[in-house]
Amino acid sequence: MSDPPVDHTITNGERSPLLQRESHHIESNRKYYSLAKTAAYGVSIVVFLVVFITLCFYYERIGDAIGGLPTDPEKAAKLLLQGSPVIDGHIDLPILVRYAFANNASAVDLEKPTQGHVDIPRLREGHVGGFFWSVYVGCPTEAGEDYLNATWRVRDTLEQIDITKLLISKYSGTFELALSSAHIKSALARRKIASLIGIEGGHQLGNSIAVLRQMHALGVRYVTLTHICHNAFADSCGYLPGIIPRWGGLSPLGKTLVREMNRLGVLVDLSHTSDDTARQAISHSLAPVIWSHSSSRAVHDVPRNVPDDILKLIGIGAGKKDAVVMVNFAPQFVADPGQANVSAVADHVEHIAAIAGKKHVGLGSDFDGIESTPEGLEDVSKYPALRMGKSELEGLTGRNLLRVMAGAERVAYELQAAGTEPSYELYDKRSDIPRQGEL
Ligand SMILES: [Zn+2]
Repeated sequence: MSDPPVDHTITNGERSPLLQRESHHIESNRKYYSLAKTAAYGVSIVVFLVVFITLCFYYERIGDAIGGLPTDPEKAAKLLLQGSPVIDGHIDLPILVRYAFANNASAVDLEKPTQGHVDIPRLREGHVGGFFWSVYVGCPTEAGEDYLNATWRVRDTLEQIDITKLLISKYSGTFELALSSAHIKSALARRKIASLIGIEGGHQLGNSIAVLRQMHALGVRYVTLTHICHNAFADSCGYLPGIIPRWGGLSPLGKTLVREMNRLGVLVDLSHTSDDTARQAISHSLAPVIWSHSSSRAVHDVPRNVPDDILKLIGIGAGKKDAVVMVNFAPQFVADPGQANVSAVADHVEHIAAIAGKKHVGLGSDFDGIESTPEGLEDVSKYPALRMGKSELEGLTGRNLLRVMAGAERVAYELQAAGTEPSYELYDKRSDIPRQGEL
């Protein structure tokens, strides 16, 4: 079948008026759409401005969530510290409590501002997630030149461990005794301040490796090989300007001590030691080592600080020893008199990071053990003032220490799993115990 013929006259006659009407309708539609479009643009601009202003206003709070950070460095530091709280390598609260409160825990109120550098509100303000409570007692003057005379230092150390544990227990809602890197992490997850114990000098072990084992059993997780005096284990660097070495580094007993610390999982702390002690301990230790509170000698030239040639021995991989140097805030070790401030402390952090690497620097303030503080770092609330970059801050504040601790725990596990015997070595100058076969 063919298509029917098209009647153009009818079609055109019928369609013309319609076309006129349609044309009028299209015109009014155009005006309507144009108005709607203008209104939509207007609304979009208003919405954009509202969102933009809101974003600007709340940027500092939501910055972290979207990967950015507040522009104010201190606010940025505080945000970062929420995810990576400070674990300080050396706080002297116990010795302050010994001298100011005769080790009476009931007389101490850490909920209120104290005269010292540490209390719970300021620890929280400074985003402190953990610290080593130093159970320091001073070098004995009565030990004699071979360190053989009886002293009270082991008793005094036990008293300092006792007051530390009493305070941790008194404020158990805030503090928790931590015995391992995993324990620190679990305490952090529960918003507790992980509390570790460190002994500051071999003299506090009575120059006995058996005493080390018992201190470990009480919860001690680092021993500084020396304080400002030599002992039967090792040479100290002294104070200012320094002292003449006794052993030339580690004594034979000191080498045994280091290996026993490795076997137990007690960190070898090289703050206060002579350079030779530090070099020999780095080479002799099977585990990573720490400086619980030491700064950089290249930045400020005092024997208590770590020289670059020793910093160069630190690292991860062949020929290097994993370690963390936790920067000390004691003004006399930070800068010339009157010059110690937050920026000078940051110089130490940056120098150690530049020589040893960012993974090998931490914080060991010495708060409550120092008479004055750097300007801007007056107490434990002030750590955010250090304002380092993101990656530096995360490692600096705690993660580097956690890695080193975990490394030492791994070595202890391996040595014990291999059946390594405890050391029975005695200080060779002791005559109070007959040697085997002498009876
Ligand atoms: Zn010290």
